[in-house]
Amino acid sequence: MEANEIWDKAKEELKSTVPTYSILIEPLEVASFDGSVISLVTPHALSADVIKSKHNSSILQALKNAYGHDIGFTINYDLEFGEKYKKEVTKELQRKKYIETKEPDMIDNLAQMQSSAKLNLKYKFSNFVVGENNKAAHAVAMMVAQNPAKKYNPFFIYGASGLGKTHLMQAIGHYVIFNKPELKVKYIKTEEYVVELIDCLNSERNERSKRMNRFRQKFKNVDVLLIDDIQFLESKKSTMEEMFYTFDYLYNRNKQIVLTSDRLPKDIPTLPDRLRTRFEMGIVVDITPPAFETRVEILKNLAKSANVETDFSVLEYIAKNYINNVRELEGAFNKVSAFADIEKKPLTLDFAKSILQCEEKSQEISLNTIVKQTAKYFDVTLEDILSPARSQKVSNARQIAVYIARELTNNSFETIADFVKKKHPTILYSYEKIKKEIKTDKTKENDIEEIIRIIKSL
Ligand code: ADP
Ligand code: MG
Repeated sequence: MEANEIWDKAKEELKSTVPTYSILIEPLEVASFDGSVISLVTPHALSADVIKSKHNSSILQALKNAYGHDIGFTINYDLEFGEKYKKEVTKELQRKKYIETKEPDMIDNLAQMQSSAKLNLKYKFSNFVVGENNKAAHAVAMMVAQNPAKKYNPFFIYGASGLGKTHLMQAIGHYVIFNKPELKVKYIKTEEYVVELIDCLNSERNERSKRMNRFRQKFKNVDVLLIDDIQFLESKKSTMEEMFYTFDYLYNRNKQIVLTSDRLPKDIPTLPDRLRTRFEMGIVVDITPPAFETRVEILKNLAKSANVETDFSVLEYIAKNYINNVRELEGAFNKVSAFADIEKKPLTLDFAKSILQCEEKSQEISLNTIVKQTAKYFDVTLEDILSPARSQKVSNARQIAVYIARELTNNSFETIADFVKKKHPTILYSYEKIKKEIKTDKTKENDIEEIIRIIKSL
């Protein structure tokens, strides 16, 4: 075991046994370890004695628990480490202070726009789960955050609702605020932008130009502009003109622009060409629904950050049933954990099932729909599947249909067997085969997800 590893483990325990942990113990670092004695250094000149006299036994105990058997320790003050530590603490404090003062500042600006929009503290890179579905968007977002207006400008993110566009966009904002405090970040929702603008345009004649000036002024000193849900700009000509002006003003001054939309620029029907071409000028990246493992990972994170203890089967169950929308996936988890909390019951699989009742919902899906859609997906017909045909193509479609039928409905193997006109053991075999295959065969797994998605969206 590495010395640092032992010490980290011991620290975990000391967190709860030493009340002044954050001041006395947290800053300690390992200087050396000879197998029987671990040497620690402290950055505070006077703390070594205090620690030794007050917390000797707690530390020995924690080290023993961490290492497996007794080890001794020494603590010494280290001048150099002390200096370095002080510098870091000061920097961190300044940062914190900056963040605290900066955010209300941003909120102020946005409030002036009658928009209550602000960066949500939840939407950071650190709690954004990266999967195949958002890998590219995440990578570009990271690069944009690290080097605004250097390469990918504008950055256009598109994808259906609830897939993390706003989260990713705001993560860029947080990152810039934190790491490049000299840059000004602004987040706007297109809907609110439109409302405010129309309000300005509709104001009294003698007021109008003053108000318009003020409106434009708010965008002039922005370095990173985040414009959310740009599809709401459609069909409002005056707004588009104004957006055109804002865009060019910032773009020509080499400022970063990030946009999100639920569709591609070319699919926003009333977007004039000159705006569309501008939006497409940088990079356009999509986010698609997350695969099963990514959904489980998102739920795991959620459970961890909410401090909810639950069985893996619960997360798996929710991930299986909410496939198209991360917001709904999270909603389902929040619902079961809230109910468990209120009813003071452990969050078990049965409990989650009783609250969400996904089976009942999915039972409404008929075997006919499942088999038909699966057949269609694999370019065969319902008749092929019900026939004795045993070609590779038909067998594969049939087995997958059986698997999906079993997963999505409460039908017994007998019922499914009857429906596809096959024998019970054959059906059981098909189900087990696919279940095993998808563990290693990604393409198959994705096919199945896609078919389920189609079926659920009917
Ligand atoms: P959109 O803007 O695409 O409609 P949001 O960004 O509002 O979606 O995301 C909806 C919810 O799902 C938010 O609570 C967000 O934090 C969460 N979410 C989406 N994708 C992820 C992800 N990859 N990792 C963690 N949380 C996510
Ligand atoms: Mg959004």
